[in-house]
Amino acid sequence: MGEKIWLSSPHMSGSEQKFIKQAFDTNWVAPLGPNVNEFENSLQEYLGKDKYVAALSSGTAAIHLGLILLDIKPGDEVICQSKTFSASANPIVYLGATPIFVDSERDTWNLDPEQLEIAIKDRISKGQKPKAIIAVHLYGMPYKVQEINKIADYYEIPILEDSAEALGSSYHGKKCGSFGDISILSFNGNKIITTSGGGALIANSKEIKDKAVYLSTQARGKAVEYHHTEIGYNYRMSNIVAGIGRGQMTVLDDHVKARRNNHQFYRKELEGFTSIEFLDEDQGCYSNRWLTTILTESFEEREALRSAMEKENIESRPLWKPMHMQPIFKSYPKYLNGISEDLFHRGLCLPSGSNLTESDLSRVSSTIINCLVNV
Ligand SMILES: *Cc1c(COP(=O)(O)O)cnc(C)c1O
Repeated sequence: MGEKIWLSSPHMSGSEQKFIKQAFDTNWVAPLGPNVNEFENSLQEYLGKDKYVAALSSGTAAIHLGLILLDIKPGDEVICQSKTFSASANPIVYLGATPIFVDSERDTWNLDPEQLEIAIKDRISKGQKPKAIIAVHLYGMPYKVQEINKIADYYEIPILEDSAEALGSSYHGKKCGSFGDISILSFNGNKIITTSGGGALIANSKEIKDKAVYLSTQARGKAVEYHHTEIGYNYRMSNIVAGIGRGQMTVLDDHVKARRNNHQFYRKELEGFTSIEFLDEDQGCYSNRWLTTILTESFEEREALRSAMEKENIESRPLWKPMHMQPIFKSYPKYLNGISEDLFHRGLCLPSGSNLTESDLSRVSSTIINCLVNV
């Protein structure tokens, strides 16, 4: 059997250890220091001059602080895209608020504007207007930013943009991670760039960024003695980890290119197979193709492909199970059109790392083709 091919594994540039060594040499071994500042600066430069970035310990921590900054309190309702990873929804529950799950549309697989508006109107008619909307660019494909913004503006509900999977993607030329009232990124080990574990909160003003940093460092007041007027968190990024981030920023564009090439490779290899469908880029969307995903004709065909790959030591994974189907979330209100459940039953994520070789990719595609020819 060939060596294990992973869905998405870390891919270092080679310069990470230089920044880590600098941190050791200068004894900045703490959750602050030059690497943290420089990593934040390079993200700011990448996302746009009007953005303010706070580097944090994880994407989940960024969502948690983001919701606090949007003033989410116990008993509030927060709308969340159902088709996402659980980390988008968990922080709503940390705060004692209620997640309201909304289904996806077919063009991007993200938040459906139609169901979103139905949900907002229904919650208002029940006497409680949602306090925030969590919209996700799943697998790197931008959600329908224009349509979602229009609804959010009309009802005056802020957006928390979950761009954990979409650094390097853009919408009508503007970078993902720059569309929310608050936006977040993740640098977990499987993401397009990684710091081993880490995340960032992106704000539209220096005041909000400063507030995020303050909350992430135990809400310590300015006085020399520790003085607290608010509950704080220990969510700041370490200066060692930020050194990895600095190295990774030098290859972000290469990673996007490599993942988009993987996607084109699979498309080309599988183009003769009419049962396999790829997700096209919707109008104005540029995806980093963090993961290449396919839709099969049926649950059975999907499972056949998945187990054929498993036998060949190739990792693949069904599309994320929607939150409204998860035992822990299924009792919360939901607004559904059947699309996310259909995608979950027929969809598969293929190995998509920027470090895959041509021969890895060929091994994946020939395993798929052999399986399709033999069913
Ligand atoms: C990875 C991920 C997160 C969480 O980020 P962590 O850094 O792992 O905490 C949140 N949302 C989505 C969509 C993700 O894929």
